[in-house]
Amino acid sequence: MIKASTVTVLMAALVALLVTLGPGQSASGQADPAPPGNGIDMTASAKTLFGSERDASKQPAEPLGSYSKGCLAGGVRLPESGPTWQAMRLSRNRNWGHPETIGFIKRLSAAAARQPGWNGLYVGDISQPRGGPVTGHRSHQIGMDVDVWMRPANDLTLTLQERENIASVSMRRSGGAYVNDNWTRAHHEILKAAAMDTMVARIFVFPGAKVRMCNDETGNRTWLRKIRPWWGHHFHFHVRLNCPAGASNCVEQPPPPPGDGCEAAENWVYDILNPKPPDPDAPPPAPRPEITMADLPHLCARVLSAQ
Ligand SMILES: [Zn+2]
Repeated sequence: MIKASTVTVLMAALVALLVTLGPGQSASGQADPAPPGNGIDMTASAKTLFGSERDASKQPAEPLGSYSKGCLAGGVRLPESGPTWQAMRLSRNRNWGHPETIGFIKRLSAAAARQPGWNGLYVGDISQPRGGPVTGHRSHQIGMDVDVWMRPANDLTLTLQERENIASVSMRRSGGAYVNDNWTRAHHEILKAAAMDTMVARIFVFPGAKVRMCNDETGNRTWLRKIRPWWGHHFHFHVRLNCPAGASNCVEQPPPPPGDGCEAAENWVYDILNPKPPDPDAPPPAPRPEITMADLPHLCARVLSAQ
């Protein structure tokens, strides 16, 4: 039997421990470089908090955390329209990124404008003004991911309303095993230009497009390594940039496996065309838990509370 006095002593010790650790230190004893504060509830939904921010933080630009668990300090807004691009779905307010991402988009759109039938790019989601989790994506949290529409951007005079209503165009048939007739050599050249950009880490696109590019490429194949087959991604392709040099709080993803990855993409296509029967004993997929402020780097609380 535990005596009441023992309980009192234990409680006092626990309180002392918590006071010693403080809100900015973890129980592992690791010092926290930036204690959260300003009254931000660390159990609150990060999506809700970051989703209500209308402007970037007045801080030096820095991606904080990983592509799918992080935020963005000092974001820059991609102008709604430029000489070779238009940002789409502006009501979402997701045309914000790290300055290197904005620079990359301008560069790639200028290259796209040299393709027949293209005057530039229609740019989809980048990130919210201060990054953080967003509905409809797992990543796009640190201003280093951008979705580029597959629809050729031939008209760069679309109104804001048209940019809300116009849809992109799907490039796939047979569930993504093949490209359809909307796919052109220009798509190949634009994805190739993106992959050859030294700032780009990887590009996600449906498996049939990767196999088509593998088959059509007769020159340098090294860039194909960065083209990663993925689910969806037939209305747009997704470009992920490397962490900027010196961004010590930005978490890189391991690089793609060596080689051009063409065989793996062919295997994926085979699986699309020859689906395995569903396993009746497979457990239903577990729901993804909501990302809270405590799941993000502590510096993200600073990004929220900054001016
Ligand atoms: Zn994306």
